[in-house]
Amino acid sequence: MSRVESKQSGNEYQVVVIGGGAAGLSAAVTLGRALRSVLVIDAGEPRNAPAAGVHGFLSRDGIKPQELLEKGREEARSYGVDFLAGVAVAARSTAAEGSELSFDVELADGRTVKTRRILVATGLTDVLPGIDGIRERWGRDVLHCPYCHGWEVRNKAIGILGSVPMALHQTMLFRQWSPNITLFLNDVVEPTDEELEQLAARSISVVEGKVQSLDIQDDALSGMVLASGTVIPVEAVVTGTRLEARSAVLESLGVPVVEHPMGVGRHVEVNPMGGATAVPGVWAAGNVADLMGQVMASAASGVMSGAAINAHLVAEESRVAVQAARLSTLPD
Ligand SMILES: Cc1cc2nc3c(=O)[nH]c(=O)nc-3n(C[C@H](O)[C@H](O)[C@H](O)COP(=O)(O)OP(=O)(O)OC[C@H]3O[C@@H](n4cnc5c(N)ncnc54)[C@H](O)[C@@H]3O)c2cc1C
Repeated sequence: MSRVESKQSGNEYQVVVIGGGAAGLSAAVTLGRALRSVLVIDAGEPRNAPAAGVHGFLSRDGIKPQELLEKGREEARSYGVDFLAGVAVAARSTAAEGSELSFDVELADGRTVKTRRILVATGLTDVLPGIDGIRERWGRDVLHCPYCHGWEVRNKAIGILGSVPMALHQTMLFRQWSPNITLFLNDVVEPTDEELEQLAARSISVVEGKVQSLDIQDDALSGMVLASGTVIPVEAVVTGTRLEARSAVLESLGVPVVEHPMGVGRHVEVNPMGGATAVPGVWAAGNVADLMGQVMASAASGVMSGAAINAHLVAEESRVAVQAARLSTLPD
């Protein structure tokens, strides 16, 4: 793929995209193809990095997460998009009263980038339950999403860790992928009589007591260790996580971060048609706004945001052009 030169002119980009995952890169490609000068600032730590493959992404099923992003970066570069490795820590409006929108984006290493529009696509952090072994196995044999990993663990012995209120929902869902499901109540989940009846009817085992740690043998999960010392064999563990939008830059701009209506974490509310936030000139796409979005949905939201930002710039440029045209026709 041939590389088009950067379109940056002067010391200002038309759009800075913060976060180069599926959402940010899709926006960058859309904006690059719209002949915009675009910089992607990326810390290089996508949420699904521990997973072996990306599933449910049409035409790319099973591709390694880093390989998908490398392809995306290559495509974006081919349209003249620039990249900066780093962490954006804050942004602030630099627009004077009555003038067009402009911002400074600050990086952790002290660098500053000027831009007319900002798209934040920084994703989210999965806050894992504090059980020994969970972090090390996350994305490998500790899982959260049946559509991402269910096929890979089909018909295996799957333990559902009662770590969040959604655990019962996860339990019933994963039963679709395996007849060998055990729900660990972990002193967190308290099924009602009706729910216990459902679990029994679907041959799901229920284990009482607190879970202490995971039993790992030869770099593979082999069981769930209870506080009592009992080890229950499992080949995969499913856990809920608290989903925390990576929102520092948005918060620095005054964009509100709110509790998700489903009680699963915190996110940024955006206009569903393109991802505009409550702050003019600032958009958000991907998991930072949509906590449930998988890779394809995140990429799609990036495309929509890219198009919305381009339209916003076009409107501003038309306004400025009309003003200039009017001024030029005024008598001296
Ligand atoms: C273990 C696991 C497996 C998964 N498997 C699948 C799957 O098989 N299929 C699927 O569809 N979905 C899967 N998902 C969900 C998938 O990870 C998300 O849908 C997707 O990553 C969201 O894309 P995003 O662009 O919003 O965020 P991300 O992919 O997380 O990208 C955000 C980017 O922004 C960067 N960043 C963050 N903060 C800053 C900052 N301040 N400055 C600069 N850069 C920053 C990050 O380093 C990262 O590169 C999985 C999730 C997990 C946890």
